[in-house]
Amino acid sequence: MKIYKSISEFLHRRDNLAELTFVPTMGNLHQGHISLIDLAKQYENEIIASIFINKLQFNNKNDYEKYPKSLESDIELLEKNGCDHLLIPDESILDSIEVIKASSKSKKLCGKNRPGHFDGVLTILNKFFKIINPKISIFGKKDYQQFLLVKEFVLNNHLNIKIIGGDTIREYSGLALSSRNNLLSETEKQIASSIYKVLTDIKSHKNLLTKELLDNKKKYLTELGFEVDYLTVCDASTLDESLSINKNGLLVAVAAKLGEVRLIDNILLTKL
Ligand code: AMP
Repeated sequence: MKIYKSISEFLHRRDNLAELTFVPTMGNLHQGHISLIDLAKQYENEIIASIFINKLQFNNKNDYEKYPKSLESDIELLEKNGCDHLLIPDESILDSIEVIKASSKSKKLCGKNRPGHFDGVLTILNKFFKIINPKISIFGKKDYQQFLLVKEFVLNNHLNIKIIGGDTIREYSGLALSSRNNLLSETEKQIASSIYKVLTDIKSHKNLLTKELLDNKKKYLTELGFEVDYLTVCDASTLDESLSINKNGLLVAVAAKLGEVRLIDNILLTKL
């Protein structure tokens, strides 16, 4: 795997590289990230991952500073799993960066309590897209709103990049893998697995969804010690709240804090 520690080093080589499939990450890699590398292998391009903790997308300085880092083992993991290129830019990638404003969809779900978060995400991705010029870019559907916003951004700006979504990888307990799980104690991890149980329980009521059901589940999570940001059911395409399944399907999405750690998860419901 070729490692580039600056944008200029990468750009110097770019013209000699094959077509690329891009997997952006913030590092502290786990099997969720690796599943995206595996998905990338289904396409003929060479694979490039990036590791960059993007401060533009953090609303909380403490969260940014505490974000777990494990560069050496990340490099090993990517190498072992057949990634061809790794870009690790320094902070100068943010210099005179073009600021992108995400669409109104960014104000829903995670955007409500994290103003500017998706502007920060799209701002850095736009820069990466310009530098890397990938044919394909792969995102996890664990961050479903992000996946939708990136797809929309690429479409609206006529960027010639195919955006692909990968399924969420979970621990045996159901807990969605996340770099932030490393900040949880074993007991907290056990409690955190209730998030997925709540989602699957709501799924089992997919033809009878009610506000009362959601309120009960929210209450249950609160009693377990979560500070629930949202637990909602919405149209999987518009993200507008909805309790009845149409052709777009429904997204059951949750964000909740356990101690200082913010966790998100979701599940898709389809008509069939
Ligand atoms: P992050 O490093 O958290 O910015 O995540 C980088 C990419 O990995 C994003 O596209 C995430 O949606 C994706 N990702 C994170 N966790 C998982 C998971 N458990 N399963 C699948 N993809 C994931």
